[in-house]
Amino acid sequence: MTVRTRFAPSPTGFMHIGGIRTALYAWLFARKHNGKFVLRIEDTDKEREVEGSIGHIMESLKWLGIHWDESIDIGGPYEPYIQSSRLDSYRAYAKQLIDAGFAYPDPYTEEEVEALRAKAEAEKRPFLFREHRPETLGVWDGTQPLRFKVPVIKRYEWEDVVMGTLSAGEEALDDFILIKSDGYPTYNFAHVIDDIEMKITHVMRGQEFVSSTPKFLSLYEALGEVPPAFATLPPILGEGGHKKLSKRDGAKDILDYRREGYLPETMLNFLALLGWSPGGDQEFFTPFGLIEAFTLERIQKSGAQFDEDKLKHLNREHMRRLTDEEFITRGELHATDDARLKKAVPLIKERAYTFAEARDMLNGELSCLFETPEISLDLLTAKEPQDRPGLTKQALEGALEILGGLPVSLPAEAVKMALMPFADEKEAEGKGGRGAVLWPLRYALSGAEKSPDPFTLISILGTEEAISRIRTAFAIL
Ligand code: GLU
Repeated sequence: MTVRTRFAPSPTGFMHIGGIRTALYAWLFARKHNGKFVLRIEDTDKEREVEGSIGHIMESLKWLGIHWDESIDIGGPYEPYIQSSRLDSYRAYAKQLIDAGFAYPDPYTEEEVEALRAKAEAEKRPFLFREHRPETLGVWDGTQPLRFKVPVIKRYEWEDVVMGTLSAGEEALDDFILIKSDGYPTYNFAHVIDDIEMKITHVMRGQEFVSSTPKFLSLYEALGEVPPAFATLPPILGEGGHKKLSKRDGAKDILDYRREGYLPETMLNFLALLGWSPGGDQEFFTPFGLIEAFTLERIQKSGAQFDEDKLKHLNREHMRRLTDEEFITRGELHATDDARLKKAVPLIKERAYTFAEARDMLNGELSCLFETPEISLDLLTAKEPQDRPGLTKQALEGALEILGGLPVSLPAEAVKMALMPFADEKEAEGKGGRGAVLWPLRYALSGAEKSPDPFTLISILGTEEAISRIRTAFAIL
């Protein structure tokens, strides 16, 4: 058997964490078993449709590297892959059901059905259409809703790959609508037909579909088809564990994470762990590693908690594993001096959790690497002990002399080895000497109260530029 999974979004808006996780699990499972992953668009609810959603969904999946094998753009053996173009197929199955006596036209007006529903509600009992099923079934002319005539009212028990044995009683079975009066099928009908036609073997989706599963099972039975395996994914809970996801965290557009500078491989890693675990304590996974490790058996039953800190830490890990060149291009980092930018990458890798933070660093704390700083006399001498006047001057003079004898470019560690003995010497001469050397040196180089240490600055700026900046500061003294 070839594993065939599908992701079947409705084009009703952007993709959020929950939707993407469903797609990811279906994709991982298909990849792991050399199967096929189908992207199907479920657009039968025309009222809820939001323009541009399909493009948005596809862009989100592509950004994440969740590539489909069959869909509306590339076609496939069971095309079309959008429900609004499959109406003929639903009609053919509807006819099969009518012929077998398992479907009939709804004889009531919408208002009449509403009144029956309201009456049931007022009497505090569940509304079941089948209790109002007409005695003689009419002939369907396509203008009335077509209803399923549920063949047997019985208790259903089924195996869910994640949840184990589930069951539901007779109250879950009803004569639900197959085709609406506008000619479009309902979700309940269309997705079952598509899953049959597209030979889907495993269906992964959220818990909201469990209560309807007996309906789906009764339809499979009426059609004489074997249902696919069902794997119900746990809900995603907001931080704190109880509330639902808010807009702030996972309920936002997945492409917002791209704008904020998260890597797609981080998102896959993070989302995979949101409801699944590998069994050990490994947390860092490449997409390939996820495919290798993924099993349906290790999807958890209970809710998974969204944890933004974890997302950030994972992102930093993924960012750090990029080469410096990849870091610059994938992070869309720009600066006026490419060589200095490249040298600054290890520093950024140490500190930034997202590429948005990396870009902020380049425009803030690290802007001194690319712009000549403004120096104030007060700050330059801020660490000069009162009883050691002139120490700032000596410090800059001493640094200039040492730097004059150094190669144009060298690592921060080597710069430190060259300068530290001088700072220690000043410290030995009297308290506060080391700070009085390192502070004005760092400030002369950066013009900022907060910046990387002077050795790192010199290493990135290059000895020549460092000397020039120290000279400028010296002139102010
Ligand atoms: N179109 C449904 C949705 O977006 C898909 C549910 C399913 O996977 O069967 O919720």
